[in-house]
Amino acid sequence: MTTAYELRCRECGKTYGVQPLSICDDCFSPLEVTYDLEHARTRFTREAISAGPLNMWRYRALLPVADSYEPQTPAGLTPLVKAPRLAARIGARNLYIKNDAVCMPTLSFKDRVVAVALANAQAFGFDTVGCSSTGNLANAVAAQAARLGLKTFILVPADLEPAKILNTQVYGATLVRVDGNYDHVNRLCSQIADRYNWGFVNVNLRPYYAEGSKTVGFEIAEQLGWRLPDNVVVPMAGGSLITKIRKAFNELIALGLVEDKPVRFFGAQATGCSPIAKAVKNGTEVIEPQRPHTIARSLAIGNPADGIYASRAIRSSGGWAEDVSDVEIVSAIQELAETEGIFTETAGGVTTAVTARLSAHGRIQADELTVTCITGNGLKTTDALNGAYDQSRAIRPRLTDFENFVEEYTAASQGLSLAGESHVR
Ligand SMILES: *Cc1c(COP(=O)(O)O)cnc(C)c1O
Ligand SMILES: [Zn+2]
Repeated sequence: MTTAYELRCRECGKTYGVQPLSICDDCFSPLEVTYDLEHARTRFTREAISAGPLNMWRYRALLPVADSYEPQTPAGLTPLVKAPRLAARIGARNLYIKNDAVCMPTLSFKDRVVAVALANAQAFGFDTVGCSSTGNLANAVAAQAARLGLKTFILVPADLEPAKILNTQVYGATLVRVDGNYDHVNRLCSQIADRYNWGFVNVNLRPYYAEGSKTVGFEIAEQLGWRLPDNVVVPMAGGSLITKIRKAFNELIALGLVEDKPVRFFGAQATGCSPIAKAVKNGTEVIEPQRPHTIARSLAIGNPADGIYASRAIRSSGGWAEDVSDVEIVSAIQELAETEGIFTETAGGVTTAVTARLSAHGRIQADELTVTCITGNGLKTTDALNGAYDQSRAIRPRLTDFENFVEEYTAASQGLSLAGESHVR
């Protein structure tokens, strides 16, 4: 290897150097970035990392960027918090939340992947970038491209949540709504990237983009005091994030930054779009594409690009996958907010509900250290909670009115508590 990293075919091993390419010419399998770990060994140390910036670029020695690259976007390094009240509700004792609902700058973990993809778009000289998106990626590309002064075309399914559309347009990106689902949009983007020579973060820049997800895994290990958890629960759309957290843990083990121990990977999907969970449950290598129908739009990829790799990672780790209904997703959003003060989007509802189910079914034991990945912010999908809360009538600014209000409220909530306590189960 002449550089610190290069592209390599995941199946046949053919190498491609560093270029904007995502599929092997020979066998049509996906390409992945591999590193010269001996080169990284002196630079990727606990000491070097803790002396680094307070964002994901502290791990740059294992990210595909040149040594001379100056990071422009301080994404990542989100909180890892203990979640005792949620744990008590679901029958766990040692539960943590990795909270990318507050990832900067656009409040989802997609800021991490875009930071790496756009660094490469600039290095390759693209003046226009874009993506196909289920929402969060659109927001992240639009915001970061604005900061870098790149032109932006973003293609989304026409029925996306209004907040995610607005959160793309506000940055001045050109938004193209496509009459179709994500899989139609993605196919169109491949054709556009070829025809116009643009940098599409999740098409021709996909191998670089995907590496950004590793920083979730690096952070979990560092924030646990350079330890690996027993279990990780990860939402799956294309299936990339879960495989990259695993890659991060394996790189940490290979470089001796953490003890080598088994980590079980658990994948979470919505029942209305669950091709990977279904394959795991059926014990098959074949991912059968689905037509998505769920409120968890950010996970609604019916033909997941990394589905096979995600299901292999899950099964070989001794983990499992589950899928939950839209009703369970909404309840879990409320449960996480009420117990831990974290308002997540529908994808986080999926992960929370799946964590509860895994615990109820004994697949996650109470004392094991489990990290649940919350990947996006609830303010982007408030429509999921439409009608969930009554607006009480306004009172006059008088103490007697307030006392009446408290009396009525107390009576009403006593009635409610008879109807049941827990949302998730
Ligand atoms: C994109 C996305 C995911 C899943 O990402 P993949 O790497 O495609 O599996 C999870 N959560 C949120 C909020 C996302 O936007
Ligand atoms: Zn190949």
